[in-house]
Order: sequence, then structure tokens, then C-alpha cells
Amino acid sequence: MVKETRLYDILGCPPQATQSELKKAYRKLALKFHPDKATGDEEKFKEISFAYEVLSNEEKRSLYDKHGEEALKEGGGMSGFSNADDIFNMFFGGSGRRRDDTKTKDIVFEMQVTLAELYNGAERNIVINKDILCSSCDGKGGAENHVKTCGACNGQGVQTILHQMFPGMMQQSRTVCKECRGQGEVIPDRHRCRTCNGLKTLNKEKILKVHIDPGMTDGQKIIFHEEADQKPKKTPGDVVVVLDEQKHKVFRRKGIDLIMNIELDLVEALCGFDKVIETLDKRQLIISTIPGEIIRPGNIKTLLNEGMPRQKTHDKGRLMLKFSIKFPKDGVLKMENIANLKKLLPNPPDPMDMSDADLITDVLLEDIDPSTMSGTPEELEGHGGQRVECRTS
Ligand SMILES: [Zn+2]
Ligand SMILES: [Zn+2]
Repeated sequence: MVKETRLYDILGCPPQATQSELKKAYRKLALKFHPDKATGDEEKFKEISFAYEVLSNEEKRSLYDKHGEEALKEGGGMSGFSNADDIFNMFFGGSGRRRDDTKTKDIVFEMQVTLAELYNGAERNIVINKDILCSSCDGKGGAENHVKTCGACNGQGVQTILHQMFPGMMQQSRTVCKECRGQGEVIPDRHRCRTCNGLKTLNKEKILKVHIDPGMTDGQKIIFHEEADQKPKKTPGDVVVVLDEQKHKVFRRKGIDLIMNIELDLVEALCGFDKVIETLDKRQLIISTIPGEIIRPGNIKTLLNEGMPRQKTHDKGRLMLKFSIKFPKDGVLKMENIANLKKLLPNPPDPMDMSDADLITDVLLEDIDPSTMSGTPEELEGHGGQRVECRTS
């Protein structure tokens, strides 16, 4: 049991979430709430980053699970916390670098991909909107010898203004320079480049071809180096495409293995079956039981080389078939069939010995209403049940 769940709640994950579930939850939320995004929210972004920083570190996570947030504040002998942007850049940054003033910002976004695309590989086009240096003036904004450093701001693009708040009390504020509109340079009207109107850059759409290699994984980054905004005197940042694997209705991926749940009717479990399953590259596989073989609830069978490919080598993992059994509904078996079935199944029960009739009480078995139970059904069964998935939206 954990002491508090606030940090898990922020990420929308249950306390038993795995590292990869926490990672995916952080990824979705950080991309949504990053202050650069239209859906951005700085406070929320900081919270998400803090929660992820704690929970992604096993040491900090166990301290938090045991003693709550208070223990984190006390430090517990651990190093301090990073700022939200650093975590974001570590997670998404194209070249894995920290903030760098000589480069323009990376453009980061998620691209939804199907499991079939990750299995087979795919080509996708994305359209990005970006600033490019004006080719008419070479990004200078006008005729070279007429571009002058702005005197009002000394080329800084910002002006520091002193306000008098009341006598003896001055306040400093920084505003975008009005003379050069933050450009740091002034160009007289008639020498201004006509194509970009002296702005040095133009906004253009560009199509990037995203190549998805077979075996790529959820969260993997595809980087287009220096494809972000161009600005004078700066190196463009990267465009970073983060793959977001969509749930598949049949297959679940675990590393390079695939898992498929198959529900059998009781008759199939006892008497055998032939079934056709379709692979992610649309081949049909016939699976059948050996005569006499019985499939039990929870049995797992494996097909080698029918899992996901590994990206570099393209060798494949396993396809695991996990069986559950659908039992017939009450009343489906008629009395005479029950008698026949008893003859066919092993170990039919003997008629009850009623010689000690005094000690015997007839009792009624009732179905239980799960909401009245203390403890989860899994605890009663004595093993872990279905894992709870992270909520991501
Ligand atoms: Zn200026
Ligand atoms: Zn121009």
C-alpha cells in the first residue's frame, strides 16, 4: 500500500503502474500541457514534470510510496529536482541536449501509428509550418549596407525601462523594443526587402516524409535534424516525431512478443478446435489442437517467429495465445444430457452417504454480490488479476 497517491493521480496512473506506463502517461500530458503548445498550461506542466521525475526514479518513488510528499521535501539525502524544461528536453529533445541559445526550439509532436504499421513498416507524410530565411534578402531583411543596429535597444531587441512607482522607488521592466519591434536592427522603409517586408523570414509549409521501420516502438523518436524554424544567426532546432502506438483490437505487444486472447467454448476446450487467425501482415494461420488435447483456462500456447520484428535485425518474437473458456449458461444442459455427460467425464461423484443423517444440514449456496466483499476478487482467487491500465487522454 502507498501512503499517498497525488503524484500518481497527476499522471492519471494507478500506484502499481509500470515504468513504461508512467512514461507513456508523462509523454502524453507533457506534450499537451507544454507552455509552447496551444493547449499549454505552465503550472500543470510543472506538476506533471515533478510527478514524473519522482516516479521515474526507483529510489525517489519508493521513498514517496512509503512516506509521501513530505519525505521528498525533506530531501531524504537525495539530490534536488530538475526544472520542468530540462526534463522535457531530456525526454523529447532532438539531439538530447539542454536548452541552447544558439539554436531555435525543437518542434515536438506525437504521431499516432497502428500496430500493423510498426509490424510492417510504413511511410507517412507530415506537414509542418515553419519559418524559413527569406531567400530574396538572404535573411538580412534588406539591402546589406542599410541594415543598421537599432540604437534604441543597442541591438538587443528589448528595452529596459525605469518606472517611478513613488518618490524614491524605481521599478525596472523589460519590454520589446518599439523602434525595431524586437529585431535588434532597423531598416529604412525604402531599403526593406519586399518579399519578407524586412522580417527576414517567411512562414512556409513543408512536407516531411516519416519512415517507420518495422519493429519501431511506442515512444520512439524520429528526428529531422535542423528542420525546425530558421532564424538569422541561429542554427535551426530539430523536428522530433514521437511515435504513439495505438491499441490493437486483437494483439497486445510486450517487447517483441505479441499476446492474443482467445476465448473458447467449453466444447472446443474439451474436444479440440481448428481456428484461423489473421496476422498483422494479413496472412491466415490455422491453429488446431492435437486430438485428445484439452485446453484449460489460462493456458498459453506459443507460435515462434510470429511476434513483432526487431528493428535492426528484423528477427521476430513470439505470438502467445492465451486461452479463456466460456462455460455454458445455467439451464443449458437438460437432465438427460447431464446423466450422459457424467458417464463420459472422468471421476463422476458418488451418490452421497446419508448414513449419518443427524450431522447433516442442507444449506443453500447463493451467488455473491461483489460489492459486499471485503478485498478484491483477485485476492479471493489468490493471484493477481488483470492489470489496470493508465488513463491517458
Ligand atoms: Zn531596438
Ligand atoms: Zn527578405
